[in-house]
Amino acid sequence: MCFYRGTTQNLTRNNAEDSLLTIMKNTYPKTIIILGRSGSGKDTQVRLLVKKLGFDIFTTGDNLRKLGRESNILGKRLSGEIRKGNLAPTWLVSYLWIKKLVGLKPHMGIIFNGSPRMPDEATLIDEVLSWLGRGDPFVVLIEVSEKEAMLRLIRRRICSKCGMIVPYVGEFKSWKNCQKCGGKFKVRPDDKPAAIRTRFSWFKKEVGPVIRHYKRKKLLKVVNGEQDIEGVFKDILNALE
Ligand SMILES: [Zn+2]
Repeated sequence: MCFYRGTTQNLTRNNAEDSLLTIMKNTYPKTIIILGRSGSGKDTQVRLLVKKLGFDIFTTGDNLRKLGRESNILGKRLSGEIRKGNLAPTWLVSYLWIKKLVGLKPHMGIIFNGSPRMPDEATLIDEVLSWLGRGDPFVVLIEVSEKEAMLRLIRRRICSKCGMIVPYVGEFKSWKNCQKCGGKFKVRPDDKPAAIRTRFSWFKKEVGPVIRHYKRKKLLKVVNGEQDIEGVFKDILNALE
């Protein structure tokens, strides 16, 4: 099965019907947090989940990049910090997702991709969700060993024309150039081994305690990320039910 090509019109209609049914049945948790180190295939799975469940999404990186392009004092300071390789402060990221949650209709589901980034943010998210009457989040960890993630990251490519990131899994392995626009592939500058190792150690130090936080609260489901895309997706859906 292919998630990226094919008869998009039919797919869209079926997905819209699926999503409506999903909301009506209301069997899925309202707030889903997806955790996983870089190279775990998290972004692909989040995309599939959004399509399947019809949920809204909060992607921390996208929101920060968008804010960094604004010409106000916040945008200028933020883009400078990102360029230096610094993390955006907790209050700023929290401000962004709180704004998102407050603007969301109460029955609407949401998936968090990239937050919480550290234990303080997890405590804050739990508090805000409970305050807004959304209950506990449902947390999924897509587990992939450092070794496997490293292999995938140094082999993944980005399209130099449309910017699509092409993971080194499943059918993508055989792509010679971009199947969306025909563009040439190149290595992402932050996919060099040293930069990848820095991201791994950040994950261990900051997201490790977040994982333990949700394990303690019995809200965590662990899914084996070392399968093909469809296998991981099926396991996530099973975990959610
Ligand atoms: Zn492309």
